[in-house]
Amino acid sequence: MSDFQPVSGFVLPRFAGIPTFMRLPHVPLDDPRLSQVQVGLIGAPWDGGTTNRPGPRHGPRQMRDASTMIRAQHGVTGLRPFEAMNCADLGDVAPNPADLQDSLARMQDFYARVKAAGIIPLTAGGDHLCTLPILRALAKDGPLGMIHFDSHTDLYHSYFNGQMYTHGTPFRRAVEEGLLDPKRVCMIGIRGTAYDSEDRDFADSVGIRVIPIEDFHQRGPAEVMAEARAIAGQGDTYVSYDIDFVDPAFAPGTGTPEVGGPNSFQALECARGLVGVKIVGADLVEVSPPFDPSGATAYLGASLMFEMLCAIVSAHS
Ligand code: MN
Ligand code: MN
Repeated sequence: MSDFQPVSGFVLPRFAGIPTFMRLPHVPLDDPRLSQVQVGLIGAPWDGGTTNRPGPRHGPRQMRDASTMIRAQHGVTGLRPFEAMNCADLGDVAPNPADLQDSLARMQDFYARVKAAGIIPLTAGGDHLCTLPILRALAKDGPLGMIHFDSHTDLYHSYFNGQMYTHGTPFRRAVEEGLLDPKRVCMIGIRGTAYDSEDRDFADSVGIRVIPIEDFHQRGPAEVMAEARAIAGQGDTYVSYDIDFVDPAFAPGTGTPEVGGPNSFQALECARGLVGVKIVGADLVEVSPPFDPSGATAYLGASLMFEMLCAIVSAHS
């Protein structure tokens, strides 16, 4: 068994100790143990791309705390991911809360180092603009496929008189920069009122598959995930999971909630449906602790991270 085991609740009670993601060892990028890490859990405490209610900069800390509830064995499959691959908490990217472009550069540098070390990153955001610098680092060898859970496409061209970098624009930039292969991108759960149809028109023009929430509820998670896996195919694929995909009754702690979404069980089922995808990185973004007084959203976020970790392990071990 590897040295990278979470601290058991039988050794130190789950409410005690300094919280790392899933009680894993903390291995900063300059730690000599980094070369043994295969999956890195990372915090991106930055929400400089937020256009409405803020707060995801506080997400990683609250999700670390909530993730101490996660045990070592998957409840349905019996998978024990921490025994299959070496997992560690790599700590937080240090953002610059006063400078958007500097924050994007800092995040890209951090993930470039993670990729160079051969580590698969699993990130807790942060707002959804955090995904852009991650993709810039991970797509160095060519465009990636992507499975994207969200109420929103995040494909808009710009906000507020030409601001190109917000959490509503990361995937427009990613397609323009050649980081994503749009024909291998599937967006699931899109709903709510919109400014206009510019994002959906762009998706159609480049061949991105958008599965609106009406189709999701009609077809169910299993069938939708089968289609998503087929679209992503056998190539390298990124998974981006915006917590606002989930109905705000189950995930109220987020900045841009949209009613009519999946419940928390369906949300977990979707992440479980990623097994079989060649995942090269994943994130869980937009958990906003100031709007999450019960902590339920952060706990769901941590649980979804565990599901994605299990999918990563299934693909790589
Ligand atoms: Mn989003
Ligand atoms: Mn969203």
